[in-house]
Amino acid sequence: PTDVNALADEYLRLAYHGLRAKDKSFNADLKLDLAPGLPLIEAVPGDLGRVLLNLVTNAFYAVQKRQQAGEPGYQPTVRVATQLTDGYVQVQVSDNGTGIPDEVRDKIFQPFFTTKPTGEGTGLGLSLSHDIVTQGHGGTLTVESQPGQGTEFTLRLPRSVA
Ligand code: ADP
Ligand code: MG
Repeated sequence: PTDVNALADEYLRLAYHGLRAKDKSFNADLKLDLAPGLPLIEAVPGDLGRVLLNLVTNAFYAVQKRQQAGEPGYQPTVRVATQLTDGYVQVQVSDNGTGIPDEVRDKIFQPFFTTKPTGEGTGLGLSLSHDIVTQGHGGTLTVESQPGQGTEFTLRLPRSVA
């Protein structure tokens, strides 16, 4: 049984502090909107944390890239929100980063697809995350993105019969 709220909180901070350790000038607003009383879900230990870490790491990369473009007044923000929807525990990871161009969006769940320079990305994060969520947990992982504005990943996991 896994507490998704605790994982969300832990991995959002972990990714942020990891990035800040390498780039002290990087600052982002972190938002956690965690649903109170969220039911525990049945999850493979470690796997769901790995999915969340992939999603928030991608989000921080996207806001860091947009920040480096030097747009005046830009404030990087990464948000994780949880919610109980009908039968599912839903986790949304949103950022106001670079967004995903339309021609790229269809490929992001493919293994080894990356737009990052060599050494910065393996292109395996989303492919692995998608498999963990769908095959491992009977859930779904979807994306919506506004190129140039930001991206939102939505993870839905069946709640356990606790
Ligand atoms: P990697 O991070 O190693 O590139 P992923 O499978 O995690 O591999 O992501 C694949 C690609 O999807 C990234 O290279 C990037 O182009 C795109 N992507 C994923 N998440 C985001 C995001 N939050 N904002 C913008 N692009 C993203
Ligand atoms: Mg990644």
